[in-house]
Amino acid sequence: MQAFDLHRMALDKVPVEFLWEVSLRSLYTFVLVFLFLKITGRRGVRQMSLFEVLIILTLGSAAGDVAFYDDVPLLPVLIVFVTLAVLYRLVMWLMAHSEKLEDLLEGKPVVIVEEGELAWDKLRAENLTEFEFFMELRINSIEHLGQVRLAIMETNGQISVYYFEDDDVKPGLPILPGKCIQRFAVVPDHGDYACTRCSAIVALHAGESRVCSRCGHQEWANVSRAKRIT
Ligand SMILES: [Zn+2]
Repeated sequence: MQAFDLHRMALDKVPVEFLWEVSLRSLYTFVLVFLFLKITGRRGVRQMSLFEVLIILTLGSAAGDVAFYDDVPLLPVLIVFVTLAVLYRLVMWLMAHSEKLEDLLEGKPVVIVEEGELAWDKLRAENLTEFEFFMELRINSIEHLGQVRLAIMETNGQISVYYFEDDDVKPGLPILPGKCIQRFAVVPDHGDYACTRCSAIVALHAGESRVCSRCGHQEWANVSRAKRIT
């Protein structure tokens, strides 16, 4: 074999006419995927649950192979699709009748912010300690957690946010990207500070360094009291 042999890289052992077959095979898989989505009643990807992503991935890998491999026949893929469609319908039906199965396959909504602070115990119970969802909160124009009365991560990963009225906004942990927030091990002034890990609010004296009683972290940020400008 020769490296960088352009003919091998472009076509290898298939003749040029095979490209027409690839286009027919692609059309075939396109129609199959389209029919699958129609039959299962999917409307978009934004609302996909874990189980649906799993089905779509399995589907995608079967569809991908048949689209361009000359030695992958067309009918077995049809059977894969029919089987997955039946499985999908069956599991949907079972989930409608069993809450336990639904929780297992779809997950449960998780409360992530409660009364202006992270719902630390619930997050730990769900192993959600990397807070990618701060990004989602920022997309909702939230500057600090004190603006949030309740935030729930839904099973599809989207976040539902319920806000405090402007007058009820509490001091809270700023969630703007790292460099916007100053972090202190030893706090410079007397005032309210937020634990940068679990968002607990504590009043500290100038020069004080304290270990957070809730999470054991030892880094504090000035709270924000900004109201939402809507
Ligand atoms: Zn803490």
